[in-house]
Formats: sequence, structure tokens, C-alpha cells
Amino acid sequence: MDVKELEAYFRSLDRSFFVDDDMKKYADLDKPLPIGFGQTISQPSLVLEMTRLLAPEKDSKVLEIGTGSGFQTAILAKMSAEVFTVERIEKLMEEAKKRLDALNFTNIYYKVGDGSKGWQEHAPYDRIMVTAAARVLPDELVSQLANGGRMVIPIGPPDLQELKLVTKADDGRIHIKTVELVRFVELKGQYGWNA
Ligand code: SAM
Repeated sequence: MDVKELEAYFRSLDRSFFVDDDMKKYADLDKPLPIGFGQTISQPSLVLEMTRLLAPEKDSKVLEIGTGSGFQTAILAKMSAEVFTVERIEKLMEEAKKRLDALNFTNIYYKVGDGSKGWQEHAPYDRIMVTAAARVLPDELVSQLANGGRMVIPIGPPDLQELKLVTKADDGRIHIKTVELVRFVELKGQYGWNA
């Protein structure tokens, strides 16, 4: 991944475009902000850090769980070949798609549903980014990760989680590294909280 290109695109992206009118005045703050339905657009510095960790390449096929506002999706789509993004709240997905269409992305595929089970139809994925806190590492996501692939996922209870970098070696062996403590909204569904 070209880190300079990532940072330049990150700086060029107007975060106020991804939030409702009443939140636009806070868009420059390095804070998560509400996007409705009890969900948030993530803290920008964490979006950048998680993308660096994921390290998508220009030919990568990426699965994103938790489209939210579409802010992270735009960055992934800029830095990779294709992004398959799953969001459980239809209205959030509709709004995100409108924004991403307006930015002229043609390499993003959208699904409304329980992303904790991944998106089997298009697997395997070179990269998997999960932007909500899982209860455990979802088996389906591990099995949908390609050999040589990387997954970034917060795992832990709703108040505080460990951000994990999961790598799958060329021989299929899994390695899990804890990167730091983070705080995300809950992943719902089969591998999430309060399904
Ligand atoms: N990355 C997003 C952004 O840049 O705006 C922020 C994502 S927000 C922190 C987490 C999102 O995950 C929410 O929109 C939430 O509805 C979604 N979510 C939670 N559980 C989910 C599930 N099982 N499948 C798909 N999306 C889920």
C-alpha cells in the first residue's frame, strides 16, 4: 500500500459530507459523531490507523462489515480494487450509497444484512475490515479470508475492545495480534452482542 497516497486521500476527504446537517460543524474534530440509529461515524485518526493496519493493495478484494456513513468505505475503495460492504441498517446503507455514488465510485458492492457472517458469495477476500465490536472472532469471516490475507477487527464487550490484526499465512495458518484498546458500537448478529 502507498501510505502517502492513503494519507493524501484521507486529508482530501471532506468528512462533513458524510454526516447530517446538525453534525457538520463538528466534522473536523477527531471524534466519533452520531449518524442516527444509535450508530457513529468513527474517529478519523482511527479510520486512518485501521486502514494502515489493513494495508489494502490496488488489486485487493476487500470485505467491509459496518458501512455506517460510508466514510471508511470511500477510503477502502480508493485504495483497493473492489469493496464489498455490508450494513444491517437499510437506511444507513441507502444514505452511504448515495454519497459514494456522488463521489463516482464504481467498485463498491452493497448488501443489507448480518455482516458478522460475511458475504460468502464473493469470498475469498484479501482484506476484511470490521468496524463494529464483535463478541468473538467470527468463524465465517476467518474462513472467507484468503490465504495471505489480513483482517482488522475489534473484539470485546460494548464498553472497551481489543483491536485485533488477524493474518492468514499462505499455508492457511492464522496469527492474531492485539494492537490496542478501542471503543466501537456493537456488532449485532450471530457473532455480535444482543443479536
Ligand atoms: N465505518 C463507518 C463509517 O466510517 O461511518 C462507521 C461504522 S459504525 C462504527 C458501525 C456500523 O456497523 C454501524 O453502521 C452498524 O449499524 C453496523 N453494524 C453493526 N452490526 C452489524 C452487522 N452484524 N452487520 C452489518 N453491519 C453491522
